[in-house]
Amino acid sequence: MKLVRTRQELAESVTEWQRAGETIGVVPTMGSLHAGHLALVTALDGKATRRIVTIFVNPIQFNNPDDFHLYPRGLEADAALLEKTGRVDILYAPDETQIYAPGFSTRVIVSGLDAMLCGNDRPGHFNGVATIVTKLFMQTRADIAVFGEKDFQQLCIVRRLVQDLDLPVSILPVPTVREADQLALSSRNRRLSHTQRDRAAHLPASLQTCIAELKAGKNLEACLKTCWHDLEEAGFTVHYLELRSEKNLQLTQPSDPTARLFVAASLGDVRLIDNMPLC
Ligand code: AMP
Repeated sequence: MKLVRTRQELAESVTEWQRAGETIGVVPTMGSLHAGHLALVTALDGKATRRIVTIFVNPIQFNNPDDFHLYPRGLEADAALLEKTGRVDILYAPDETQIYAPGFSTRVIVSGLDAMLCGNDRPGHFNGVATIVTKLFMQTRADIAVFGEKDFQQLCIVRRLVQDLDLPVSILPVPTVREADQLALSSRNRRLSHTQRDRAAHLPASLQTCIAELKAGKNLEACLKTCWHDLEEAGFTVHYLELRSEKNLQLTQPSDPTARLFVAASLGDVRLIDNMPLC
């Protein structure tokens, strides 16, 4: 695995690969890697002949400067983890100069899909995501890009922008990787205290309970209210808890086969998100 820090060096490898007819897969990340990220790398088995993992903590997607500064970073450990998989050709870890040159002023805006769920309490977040993802697609010239269902709204936004801008990349989704207690793996989990980490398991458990009740035919509003209350009892501040279609993220009913339950809730200053399908 080669560690590449500049877009020039990246372009040289990519040009060589394209000449040789290779299929390029990319896994965009912000680092602080865990088994969830590694599942995205493995998902490219048999689909890409060359693999690039990108690590870039993207300043323009953080609406809160503290969150940006507190975001965990550790390039050496990340590189070691990726090296161990034996599956990665290039770890592309650019600094800001390689991504945002002086005077950078373009934003990719996926309207509509960014005005709900995490878009409501993180203004500008998805514009930052759409912009960096588009730039990474251009820089890596990837044929396939892998995204986790853990960030389901992000996945929908990326699919939309690829379709709308005719980007020549196919999007491969990967189901959420979870801890034994079902908490979704996340780089943010490292910021939880021991007590908070124990409590965090209430998040997936409450979603599962809510889904079971919905499947048993209980009233949607009542189920959401109970679930919200249970999470507050467990110490969470709940930002949203909503049933939406995974096709277009519109609010929906339990009878919809594309229904998915979405939640964002904080323990202290650590904001966690999760989502689960009803079927
Ligand atoms: P991040 O580094 O958190 O921005 O995430 C980079 C990619 O990894 C995104 O496509 C995420 O959806 C994905 N990802 C993060 N956590 C998980 C997880 N627990 N399971 C599957 N994919 C994940």
